[in-house]
Amino acid sequence: GRAPKKSRQPEKIKSRKGFKDPGSSQDIPKEVPYLLIGGGTASFTAFRAIKSSDPTAKVLIVSNEPYFPYMRPPLSKEIWFNPDRDVAKSLTFKQWNGSERSLFYEPEDFYIHCKDLLESENGGVAVARGWSIKRLDVLNKVAVLDDGEQVKYEKCLIATGATPRLTPVFEVALADENLRNNIKLFRNIDDFKDVFEAFEAAKAVAVVGGGFLGSELACAFGRRDHKKLKVIYQIFPESGNMGKLLPEYLSMWTSEKVRAEGVQVVPKTEIVGAKAKNDQVELTLSSGKTLLVDFVVVSVGVEPNTELAETSDLEVDPELGGYLVNTELQARTDLYIAGDCACFYDPRLGRRRIEHHDHAVVSGRLAGENMAGARNPYLHQSMFWSDLGPEVGYEAIGIVDSSLPTVGVFAKQSVNDTPQAVVEKTDEFDRSKTEQLPQECEKYLSEEEKSKLKDSKKLLPNPIDGEDYGKGVIFYLRDDVVVGIVLWNVFNRMSIARQVLKDQKKYDDLNEVAKLFNIHGE
Ligand code: FAD
Ligand code: NAD
Ligand code: NAD
Repeated sequence: GRAPKKSRQPEKIKSRKGFKDPGSSQDIPKEVPYLLIGGGTASFTAFRAIKSSDPTAKVLIVSNEPYFPYMRPPLSKEIWFNPDRDVAKSLTFKQWNGSERSLFYEPEDFYIHCKDLLESENGGVAVARGWSIKRLDVLNKVAVLDDGEQVKYEKCLIATGATPRLTPVFEVALADENLRNNIKLFRNIDDFKDVFEAFEAAKAVAVVGGGFLGSELACAFGRRDHKKLKVIYQIFPESGNMGKLLPEYLSMWTSEKVRAEGVQVVPKTEIVGAKAKNDQVELTLSSGKTLLVDFVVVSVGVEPNTELAETSDLEVDPELGGYLVNTELQARTDLYIAGDCACFYDPRLGRRRIEHHDHAVVSGRLAGENMAGARNPYLHQSMFWSDLGPEVGYEAIGIVDSSLPTVGVFAKQSVNDTPQAVVEKTDEFDRSKTEQLPQECEKYLSEEEKSKLKDSKKLLPNPIDGEDYGKGVIFYLRDDVVVGIVLWNVFNRMSIARQVLKDQKKYDDLNEVAKLFNIHGE
């Protein structure tokens, strides 16, 4: 897995320093029924769940970002494909089908001012922006703001997300004043604005890291530079893109697709040095080669934000990181944790921590329901998706880790089997919404899917011509049980994958299971 190594977190560099709204904590309520710490997806979804169980609920979000809640996925994908130059101002993105959306979940006037929250008749949500919570007194149910003022709560959620980590080389580089502007991290809107502006002006850039962020950004850079005037490097230690996730053959195949987007992929390579040279940065690679670039985006994973553990007597998982919570997402009485910073007990797959959007949604919703009085366990598996350009996309569920044994079943890709096609059809970029509704209690397939399956041909040898991994299903096994599934350019089949995971059966022939996904149809 990706057990976090302990490394120091970098200082927040690009935040609008000093922005606080309200400007004084006197305008933040001293006592609230619901306090949500963090202004990300998990928090916002928890608010929605609280609101639907308790329609006049008064919810206070404390977020140390200057923005109201927004989604991060488009920041490394769609927003870069928006041809307008002012996207960094409008913060909108076009879905593949051309319809335009904002990053923000709600417009500013949706939110109540902090000072008006307690008086509001119908309740709602207020966001104290630029504020953070430094400590909790769990016994007395009090949270302490950065200026020392206290907020008493009845129920509290910690959804503080995660912060990009650095390798030792870049930790040193970032501390060097001459390099500070050339070394970039990428997590929030301000980081996007900064990198977007720097990219416009750059001639050569490097992305370090071969995971989700590095691979998506490298592809986005490649596509944004449609005239191919810039040099874009992507450097990482694995043998192919997404090497920690995909089996090696597929990872290497994917690197060819990333190269086709205009990226110089440099696998099996680490950065051993970074130094300033005029206004640029010179990177020394483990091969001995040097590269001169205008800036580097370091995307080598994140660490969950668990600073409150030390100040508030909360427990952190020593291996996976994140606050330890039970299956109902409780850390302590009336204290819940969700999203990237939660290490929860999944009754089917064991202890987990997940760093994906849909998990933030699923766990935020569950925490919100439970804060409002339910006692629901974590049973609905979240999914995740990634697109590497408009032609390669995948969706996945469960434990997807290339160190597990895998079985892949592939078929030929058609023009309908692309992320672009699925968004065009559904008008929805968020792939966790285009999957069919969870039908956990129902049979595997709809009648239509069943009859399609009957007609579908016998599975062909695999992959079709030895080279084409255009479309397929990859099963990840632990003790011969399927614990994870990647749907590779196969869309709208997540409910089937969810059912296969739920069954926890040992299958003799996974080709038979692959047939359920009807990958040879259409
Ligand atoms: P976050 O979104 O990180 O929100 C936490 C918030 O809490 C932040 O605003 C933080 O500043 C604030 N905070 C932290 N500490 C404090 C404190 N003490 N007091 C107050 N506030 C605090 N996932 C996918 O599944 N698919 C994708 O395509 C995808 N794309 C991504 C693209 C990018 C560029 C990034 C960065 C991530 C992407 N992810 C994607 C991952 C996904 O965005 C995260 O898993 C998700 O944002 C986690 O939500 P969260 O609410 O737990 O945390
Ligand atoms: P921006 O990049 O912050 O905003 C661009 C667009 O996004 C606008 O349409 C705006 O309505 C919308 N938007 C911005 N923040 C939003 C949020 N938090 N929630 C929902 N929608 C949001 O544009 P800008 O020119 O940098 O700032 C716009 C105004 O906001 C200015 O008056 C600025 O001083 C003030 N401001 C806002 C923030 C903030 O939290 N967004 C921080 C500092 C200053
Ligand atoms: P990641 O965990 O996906 O990838 C980490 C990568 O860092 C590894 O694949 C490796 O190539 C690289 N790395 C690790 N140690 C290194 C070292 N010493 N030297 C060089 N490279 C090293 O993390 P990320 O790509 O940085 O993404 C950041 C966060 O954002 C993650 O939580 C990720 O899940 C999330 N994210 C998710 C999506 C998505 O789900 N589609 C998209 C973007 C970002």
